[in-house]
Amino acid sequence: MAADYDLAIVGAGIAGLAHALAGVRRGLKTVVIDRDAQANGASVRNFGFITVTGQQAGATWQRAKRSAQIWDEVAPKAGIRIEHRGLAVASRRAEATAVLEAFLASEMGEGCALVSRAALRERFPFLAGRNEAALWSPHDLRVESKDAIPRLAAHLERDWGVAFRRQSTVHEVAPPMVATSGGTIRAETVVVCPGDDFSGLFGAQLREAYPGLTRCKLQMLRVKPASGQNLPCSVMSDLSLVRYLGYAELPEAAALRKRLESEQAAQLENGIHLIAVASADGTQVVGDSHHYAATPDPFASDAVDELMLDEYEAVLGSRPEITARWLGTYASLPDRPMLRMAPAERVRLVIVTSGTGASTSFAIGEETIAELFG
Ligand SMILES: Cc1cc2nc3c(=O)[nH]c(=O)nc-3n(C[C@H](O)[C@H](O)[C@H](O)COP(=O)(O)OP(=O)(O)OC[C@H]3O[C@@H](n4cnc5c(N)ncnc54)[C@H](O)[C@@H]3O)c2cc1C
Repeated sequence: MAADYDLAIVGAGIAGLAHALAGVRRGLKTVVIDRDAQANGASVRNFGFITVTGQQAGATWQRAKRSAQIWDEVAPKAGIRIEHRGLAVASRRAEATAVLEAFLASEMGEGCALVSRAALRERFPFLAGRNEAALWSPHDLRVESKDAIPRLAAHLERDWGVAFRRQSTVHEVAPPMVATSGGTIRAETVVVCPGDDFSGLFGAQLREAYPGLTRCKLQMLRVKPASGQNLPCSVMSDLSLVRYLGYAELPEAAALRKRLESEQAAQLENGIHLIAVASADGTQVVGDSHHYAATPDPFASDAVDELMLDEYEAVLGSRPEITARWLGTYASLPDRPMLRMAPAERVRLVIVTSGTGASTSFAIGEETIAELFG
């Protein structure tokens, strides 16, 4: 019996939707299957910060550049607003400015610029007075993920004819058979994008191939800025420069890390750095922290929130009011930003194993589809 679909995707997070887009752009008849009624995983809990500058040199940076391009192509068609463009990485310490200068001198610094302390007042007044410089990057985008992911799915369904099967858990994949709690679907090729579910499909193979696979729990805040003024771009700070590998792998980051270990040990222990992004309603999304465990506990800590706000205040000058809190988790491997394995014929299992899925999935989707379909 002929298959109903050329391509079935398991998972309707950004990774699954990105693979679906790459599939339909090649003319493949595609179905997306998800166990939830609506997107509920990392893809709607994140900052929607499509980060190019600061991604690890090499494949991740290249994927981020390509993915930002695709976000730009797709957003207007899907009715997704680009909330703002660009990134300002503020530095408060000479050691941090040295990292920014080294970054600018690298291939990845192309199009970026260092804004001096004197120029901050005019260019980024919200950083002036407290920061000694800032790196400006024009390459980065921000979308409101809780709206963008449903809109991307609706665009795929409406404009590309992708079929969606929601509230269907996939419990076996052996093409052309895809067994779901809602019945069997027949597809020639299957891509499984399960996010941080490692004990479901191909769980034993996954854990054997990647014994270090774990989860990372993040605390996130929505805040109202005390000034009432919102940010025109994404903002990061000194702590980000020892966390984001595009900076942290530069030799100059060692001196900054040493200084931060003595001055901001509590933030480092909790994996805290600053990302602040703006929303259309005048609020900001602010984070984040990083705690690793196979099954992270579901409890948010006030102390961690306060440490995040301490960094916010040091960089932006005032303490905002918290209007919402949530947790998110993502898949994590210590030494790999993503994994793609072939657990069966005509099947690929794809997991972004670093906090970069919003920034890299579109490119990863294109790679997987090219590998499968030539
Ligand atoms: C708090 C937070 C902040 C982040 N910030 C950023 C950021 O600013 N920029 C960035 O680039 N990245 C960021 N990330 C990382 C990014 O969000 C993730 O890498 C990305 O969302 C992973 O997408 P995914 O589709 O693989 O997973 P998910 O969004 O978790 O989707 C997986 C889907 O698979 C479904 N599923 C799993 N198993 C089955 C099954 N057997 N049957 C049916 N359905 C199944 C689940 O229901 C789920 O809908 C952040 C992550 C978090 C948690």
